[in-house]
Amino acid sequence: MNYPACFEELVECFKMLPGIGNKGAERMAYHVLSMDEQQVQRFSEALIDFKTNIQYCKICGHICEGEVCDICQDTTRDQTTICVVESPKDVFAMEKLKEYHGLYHVLHGTMSIMDGKTIEDLNINSLFERLNDNIKEVIIATNPTREGETTALFLAKLLAKQNIPATRIANGLPIGSNLDYADELTLLKSLEGRKKI
Ligand SMILES: [Zn+2]
Repeated sequence: MNYPACFEELVECFKMLPGIGNKGAERMAYHVLSMDEQQVQRFSEALIDFKTNIQYCKICGHICEGEVCDICQDTTRDQTTICVVESPKDVFAMEKLKEYHGLYHVLHGTMSIMDGKTIEDLNINSLFERLNDNIKEVIIATNPTREGETTALFLAKLLAKQNIPATRIANGLPIGSNLDYADELTLLKSLEGRKKI
């Protein structure tokens, strides 16, 4: 016997989420069955509300609800340092450390031969538009994966051409890992041990 069509549809929707297979999606759908109307309403509204209101900061590319994110608007932050990361997740990982007080720039990916992604596909032009004499350091904090390292080297070359001092976070992070999966102490050490690139 097949599930009712609306049940199947909900299962298919849950399967769009990362790490959710058929079994997990079915379990979630059964759980929705036990939720009251108000909870389901809140859930569905949160999805729409999130997608409608979330946008990328026009300065740094981080996620925010207005045009410019809280970090870019915060004039008390160190305006002379920009930390370049791959994704908004990495900004949150760095912010959890409470040790870094500069600005960010989110690339939204890395260069990748496999995916045919070049430097042009990244949020990089807006980074160079931000660079001026006030910028004393650009910290390249892409993930220690092959793609992250390639992007870091390429970016370092572009920055060197403009005489912008660039550093790379240290090798404390396991090769192939992601910033947002690293524990806070490892990430902190990696940040503190950054070297000129
Ligand atoms: Zn911003």
